Amino acid sequence: MLKHNLGYPRIGIKRELKKACENYWNNKIDCKQLFDIGKNIRQKNWNIQEKCGLDLIPCNDFSFYDHVLDMSFLLGVIPKWYLENPIIHHNNKIDLYFSMARGIQKNGLDIKAMEMTKWFNTNYHYIVPEFKKNQNFFIFYKKIFNEFEEIKKNIKKQPKPVLIGPVSYLFLGKENKKTFHRMDLIENIIPIYVKIIKKLIFQGAKWIQLDEPILGLDLSQKEIEAFQYGYKIITQECSSNINILITSYFDDISENLYLLKDIDIKALHIDLIEDPDQLDIVLNFLKEKKIILSLGIIDGRNIWKNNYVYSIKKIDKTIKILGEQRVMIAPNCSLLHVPLDLNYEINIHKDIKNKMSFARQKIDELNDLYNIIKGNKNILLKNFKILEKTKKSFLIHDKKIQDKIKNIDINNNIKRKNSFNIRKIKQHKNFQLPILPTTTIGSFPQTSEIRSLRKKLKIKKISQKEYDNQLKKFIIDVIRKQEKINLDVLVHGEFERNDMVEFFSEKLKGCLSTDNGWVQSYGSRCVKPPIIYGDISRNGDMTVQWINFAQKNTKKLMKGMLTGPVTILKWSFVRDDQPIYHTAYQIAFAIREEVKSLENSGIKIIQIDEPALREGLPLKRKKWKSYFNWSIKAFRLASSIVKDETQIHTHMCYSEFNDIIEYISDLDADVITIETSRSKMELLNAFSDFSYPNEIGPGVYDIHSPRIPSVKEILDLILKVTNKFPIRNIWINPDCGLKTRKWNEVIKSLINMTKAAKIAREQLKK
Ligand code: GLN
Ligand code: ZN
Repeated sequence: MLKHNLGYPRIGIKRELKKACENYWNNKIDCKQLFDIGKNIRQKNWNIQEKCGLDLIPCNDFSFYDHVLDMSFLLGVIPKWYLENPIIHHNNKIDLYFSMARGIQKNGLDIKAMEMTKWFNTNYHYIVPEFKKNQNFFIFYKKIFNEFEEIKKNIKKQPKPVLIGPVSYLFLGKENKKTFHRMDLIENIIPIYVKIIKKLIFQGAKWIQLDEPILGLDLSQKEIEAFQYGYKIITQECSSNINILITSYFDDISENLYLLKDIDIKALHIDLIEDPDQLDIVLNFLKEKKIILSLGIIDGRNIWKNNYVYSIKKIDKTIKILGEQRVMIAPNCSLLHVPLDLNYEINIHKDIKNKMSFARQKIDELNDLYNIIKGNKNILLKNFKILEKTKKSFLIHDKKIQDKIKNIDINNNIKRKNSFNIRKIKQHKNFQLPILPTTTIGSFPQTSEIRSLRKKLKIKKISQKEYDNQLKKFIIDVIRKQEKINLDVLVHGEFERNDMVEFFSEKLKGCLSTDNGWVQSYGSRCVKPPIIYGDISRNGDMTVQWINFAQKNTKKLMKGMLTGPVTILKWSFVRDDQPIYHTAYQIAFAIREEVKSLENSGIKIIQIDEPALREGLPLKRKKWKSYFNWSIKAFRLASSIVKDETQIHTHMCYSEFNDIIEYISDLDADVITIETSRSKMELLNAFSDFSYPNEIGPGVYDIHSPRIPSVKEILDLILKVTNKFPIRNIWINPDCGLKTRKWNEVIKSLINMTKAAKIAREQLKK
């Protein structure tokens, strides 16, 4: 039984990679220094994994920015404006590489970065490959081969180069023009994959891992054909000289298993964390074959200790059917999605820490499972005891909140008192807003002054009182600015929040923040997701003080600002000892109390942001219904406690609504503000085709770019919207929060926005 790993975090224990890249971009170190730091991280990672007893050790899982971009670079998929750019030094390919990831703004040149999007349903972002018609693939960059030479010198165990498989790679990309289908490029790409694998064989590789997470998706006919075609050739050409491992992860593979029927691979990896039930189906399929089954049994997307009793059952069963020689064990996916090493956490209570496991510990867990299979039952017992003991911790269980949830009938608490049509009349009468009311999404520029103020409080360099006084100044300032711009519904600016989830998790009971639990989000950007370990409750008001202060300082309506339960869940590590919807309802309940408290304090408009609602969507469509079942309930539980007169807003910032519009409508928010300006309002069709019944604020100003939109441009967008929806239902706003923008851009853009709204109102009166 071999133990292996699909990939290890590459940021370094002290985020060395982040610092090195940023120093390189700022010309503080040269590329040799950068490469040395990369080399150092790789060697440490390999050594740790070897020391922990892995039999196959991944290489080429390291990346200076993103492993999908690495694939594009390896395969020569480089749009020509980067390739032909005169200011990039061609003797230094890393500059070309970074220019694709980050764009170039130098010497009057302004080339945009390539598009970035989320890696399946995780919070990791990758650079989207961009293909042209008849794309030619060729080996452009030798990183994978160099890394293989490097690992050979470093470790005695078997290295296993990792590549994104050809079908998933094509799937993750996009066509530069809609004149062809990227799956048709399979014939061009396969010979290069064969060439790469043969080169690795020549270098001495015995194993290769081809990641095909698309096997967990609902596949189209084109994708199916591409898979069959591609792997027939790859295996025919290579299987006699190398062990090919195909991995699937993030969802179950059972419906696509037949694709592996006639191809000669050595091993198949499945994700038993996301879907343990697929094991029987897969075992049944593999029984008569020779293929090794790799069990993805350790959770690579969460930070809890493995339950050995449970895992051993699965392993035992597999051994019984396939024989020990045909079993491998591994984490379900790359460990990229979890922090590096729990040993660096010193402030976590032992009851919780004893339940936790980061990347380094997960590798140890594989070794433990192996030793248990070999007869060491002590390890099993020890794991059982620890988990039993921590299960009972008072930190995790809060009977009061459990009873509260138990005693409320969720279904009876997720409805507003009256329907939107009745609420709308009361709200309009109370608010007396003009038609096409203007507002923003919540945050205003986070200047270094504000960041340093928060930091000073955190390290206790200033007192709470000093902090509060400073914060008040910022809030009053942002109110005056909004009044001057003449916005209709104001916000307090969110200056007290560094992150929209972390802010709440620090206030809620049952959550904690780590000291060093960094996870790569994209490129050099890392996030530190909160950990939801226990029953969630609200210790008291979280936002009321500041929203109220803001409302007292203006005659205009002040919008309260909260993060919704689904987004808090999705951007955290969540306890796995109870169903997810249970935790969702607990968070929802806490937000519900905050909503009530805001209303009681006199706030009339409350926004509950749910930008993560869509990314939480399961990969397979058949699972959507049950996901929406609890996520919509959670949102409604949080939002429906208010009286008719109080207006609930929600905000989402992604641009694909077509297939989920009815669910969005089910949230029954009075107003939804969404991102639309980048798609020039095209996605609004989803809303208008569906006759979206409630009010809607399609973003008319793209905040993702420093460009200042002109009055005319915004006016055109507004008029487009007014053709699609009843005028009384339309709000005018930017498409997301403004915290990443600069003040001078924001002021000018918002002035143009309010001017455009004014002109539109006058035109519509005529
Ligand atoms: N209210 C948040 C803000 O304005 C919303 C952020 C988001 O949509 N991601 O920053
Ligand atoms: Zn947004």
